[in-house]
Amino acid sequence: MPPAPPVFRFAPSPNGRLHLGHALSALTNEALVGRFGGRLLLRIEDIDLTRCRPEFTAGIEADLDWLGIPFEPGFRRQSAHFGDYAEMLASLRQRGLIYPCFCSRQEIRNAVVAREAATGQPWPVDPDGAPLYPGLCKGLGSIEAARRIAAGEPHVLRLDMAAALAAIRQPLSYTVFDDGDVGQPVSIAPERWGDVVLARKDVPTSYHLAVTVDDALQGVTHVVRGRDLEAATDVHVLLQHLLGLPTPFYHFHRLLLGDDGQKLAKSRESQSLAALRADGVTAAEIRRRLGFA
Ligand code: GLU
Repeated sequence: MPPAPPVFRFAPSPNGRLHLGHALSALTNEALVGRFGGRLLLRIEDIDLTRCRPEFTAGIEADLDWLGIPFEPGFRRQSAHFGDYAEMLASLRQRGLIYPCFCSRQEIRNAVVAREAATGQPWPVDPDGAPLYPGLCKGLGSIEAARRIAAGEPHVLRLDMAAALAAIRQPLSYTVFDDGDVGQPVSIAPERWGDVVLARKDVPTSYHLAVTVDDALQGVTHVVRGRDLEAATDVHVLLQHLLGLPTPFYHFHRLLLGDDGQKLAKSRESQSLAALRADGVTAAEIRRRLGFA
């Protein structure tokens, strides 16, 4: 049988309009599909049911059409697949690799402050700068945890990082690729994230779990994403090994910075592609500006 063609995907969240940083990501996908051949899928990452809106999904489709990027028709919408993530959580639960956590953000902050005061040392933070979870709910017995769940207490599900690493028992790595070819393996250090959340209080999954499961279920072989997600990839590769899923090749593209030196973001109201289009900027100009003439 001939080898299956590579599968690429662009996976925006419909919580605002796309900006130039998204265009860079989508156009990098297009260029690498041009280099390696294969399929280019669109996936709508809409697990955040409060912030994601159908009109933003329609906006994403309109912006990508305008840019002229040849995605396969149709797309996977994560909110329609919560059952897939639940199955994976059940398998981790059976192996004792996740635990419920009832802490509020404030309780976590208080515990961190107390530990810093007690030790005189700064509490460790994850690669995004958030304090590592101090493990308050890790020691709850299963009877107590079950009682609080039955009482309807809101809770997240956390990966027990120490147990997960013990279950794997070998150093893990992934391979990066660029338009030249595949490169050297990169070792991962997922422990720097601590006990990450795999299901949120309001949603039965998290970004880390949904992105990992979907890349596998969609047969994605080449993940193209910004450098801001490079460290998070360690969590995804660990989950792939825990869940028996394949590890794709990864490419991390540069980030576009705004005038303030910060990366472009919807939350900072970076100028949207829709606004640029309304100002008369053409898709060809966007391509040129981003180096894809
Ligand atoms: N949905 C993620 C975002 O909009 C990107 C997905 C990924 O590459 O992992 O930032």
